[in-house]
Amino acid sequence: MCIFCQIASGEIPTEFLYESAKVLAFKDFLPQAPVHILIIPRAHFENTAELAAVDSETTGELFGAARELATSLGLDGYRITINTGASAGQSVLHAHLHLLGGRPFAWPPG
Ligand code: AMP
Repeated sequence: MCIFCQIASGEIPTEFLYESAKVLAFKDFLPQAPVHILIIPRAHFENTAELAAVDSETTGELFGAARELATSLGLDGYRITINTGASAGQSVLHAHLHLLGGRPFAWPPG
């Protein structure tokens, strides 16, 4: 079972900042910004492209959860990052959004 599936199943005890039937959010354990939250589907998909191909409702909920979290945390701006594939820096092969905030972000990204 992948690490995010272990988190979703409760095998790795984790505090959830957003929780629904299909989606979970929790803090990244190596935060890259003062706010760094991972938003994942409970079900296993290798990346968000694979999820979006079959389940647009859950894909949309990932973004809705990001909006809700950003609002509840009072972020005036934030960045959503989706690494897809090893060349883009994806290290966990379970679909996820990164919600990053609380500091300025440069463009273009590294
Ligand atoms: P990515 O590189 O886009 O696949 O992002 C994976 C993210 O998951 C990284 O930012 C890691 O720090 C984070 N991560 C990996 N394992 C855990 C875990 N057990 N709990 C919280 N965050 C994790």
